[in-house]
Amino acid sequence: MIGAPGREVVKALLPGLRRRFDVHLVVCNAENSAGGYGVTRDSGTALIAAGCDALTGGNHLWDRREGAAYIAEEPRLVRPANLPEGTPGEGWRVFRASDGTAVGVVNLLGRVFMREADCPFRTADRVLGALREKCKVVLVDFHAETTAEKMAMGWHLDGRVSALLGTHTHIQTADDRVLPGGTACLSDAGMTGGFDSVIGMDRQAALQRFLTLLPGKLTPSDGDLRLNGALVTVDHATGRALAIRRLEIPYAPAVSGGGARLLRGDEPALSVRLAARAEVERLRARGVTPALALVSVGEDPASRIYLKRKGEACAEVGIEARRVTLPAGTETHAVVERVRALGEDPALHGILVQLPLAPPAAAQAVLEAVPPGKDVDGFHPVNVGRLAAGLPGFVPCTPRGILELLRYHQVPLAGRHAVVLGRSNIVGRPLAALLSRKGVDCTVTLGHSASGPALRALAADADLLVCAIGRPEMVTADWVKPGATVVDVGIHRVAAPDSRTGHRLCGDVEAASVALVAGALTPVPGGVGPMTVAMVAANTVLAAEGAFAPSVAS
Ligand code: NDP
Repeated sequence: MIGAPGREVVKALLPGLRRRFDVHLVVCNAENSAGGYGVTRDSGTALIAAGCDALTGGNHLWDRREGAAYIAEEPRLVRPANLPEGTPGEGWRVFRASDGTAVGVVNLLGRVFMREADCPFRTADRVLGALREKCKVVLVDFHAETTAEKMAMGWHLDGRVSALLGTHTHIQTADDRVLPGGTACLSDAGMTGGFDSVIGMDRQAALQRFLTLLPGKLTPSDGDLRLNGALVTVDHATGRALAIRRLEIPYAPAVSGGGARLLRGDEPALSVRLAARAEVERLRARGVTPALALVSVGEDPASRIYLKRKGEACAEVGIEARRVTLPAGTETHAVVERVRALGEDPALHGILVQLPLAPPAAAQAVLEAVPPGKDVDGFHPVNVGRLAAGLPGFVPCTPRGILELLRYHQVPLAGRHAVVLGRSNIVGRPLAALLSRKGVDCTVTLGHSASGPALRALAADADLLVCAIGRPEMVTADWVKPGATVVDVGIHRVAAPDSRTGHRLCGDVEAASVALVAGALTPVPGGVGPMTVAMVAANTVLAAEGAFAPSVAS
């Protein structure tokens, strides 16, 4: 179970799995639960709250200094048993399953390619002696590097424990079987976390460590989330395993029995960029090099990141992106003059003003200084009006990106009830206009901060719920109609004390609960964000082609 992404998967999927398989006891290896390294009170408590009954450890259990007291005190945590006398915590414990069965849980460390520990085989013998009178059902988590050592342990314990499950390599093995004596074995149960990774951690950083041999920082990946584990069926009268089944369950994409399809934005965004690149090549062949000015006032940290991404997307498709950065404190008239000058530059096809502007510059006056024919953000009143009237013109990048994302993933829209939460000029209002356009044909409800308590019931009636309110995780499962499509526009960095970075990204939607109810959900990050960026390039190409001229040229 790796870091916050793994905890999210456990929280979202475990309740459904418990019900579906009538599970009586859940044991979770928690040694990587805090930011990928060690366990802390917060990460352990989160797993227990998510439905884990027992937590086990391994060689990384103590990676967090702040976790030591928790390991010593937590009655549901079992640390490796074959450690020196005096090590805090307990190496085995007896738990009560939900059907009343006493279950011994033992944790052991391997010795091959691992730090020195006492002999796990002889420790197992000693522990089983102590457990003999206490329980018939025993599960051993053998945290070891090599398959050979784990298999040897399987044969050593066959007929004496109900299950021997290996952990540590993070890669699930395909050798699940019940040995002749009645012990269910699996050399490695795998991992729960991001599989777009190197054993759960960010793959770029992990690769760099191999390329440079430098100790770069690793953080848990949240790409391609999956739950790994094993389901063991035990005859509680004898303690013999009847069956073992490996579990490998993707989180979000097509999880049967209550998981939303994940509507990722990276693929459709790539497709938009590829189409833009093909257009750029045609333009360049005609001697036109599409060029975009990215205007900002001041140094807002989030804006810096957005501008970087937009610049990169343009460069990737062959658009020349020119950064125009004015210092904080620049007066409105000076920004307006600069934007007008850019508007008159025939070599520039598009102008994008990154909001917010540092005071005292007033955004509206600046946006109105962008010639409508170069207004790739679609914020000029001429383009706003054309959108409202259903006429061709520049459509703001986020709403256009959302519509394209829904089209790419074939989400049906005609005749459906769409509820858009948020009425900003950037997202909510233009999206409501787009969704209600002829040809798209949604019936649209536009909610906002003055909608009051009725808003939740309106949202819960939506076939398509778009959340653009700028409130972290405000929209929970009870706002969502079962099977609805949920688009999460919000992006927030919130404190996460037990992650390595101290923060995590989330949207306006509480993804873990909503994914259990919704039919489809856009992830944060990796959903709407990449689409917005790709649409900057697509709109710039339209501008360079003079797509809406002369209608929006002046
Ligand atoms: P704004 O702050 O401009 O607008 C927020 C809207 O939400 C307003 O209409 C406001 O209502 C409404 N609102 C606020 N609180 C509530 C509430 N409790 N109940 C109902 N409605 C509420 O935000 P933006 O539209 O610019 O952005 C929204 C979110 O999307 C932000 O998190 C932003 O960072 C993100 N974003 C993401 C993008 C992406 O590419 N992924 C692009 C653009 C934005 P009222 O009008 O009454 O004040």
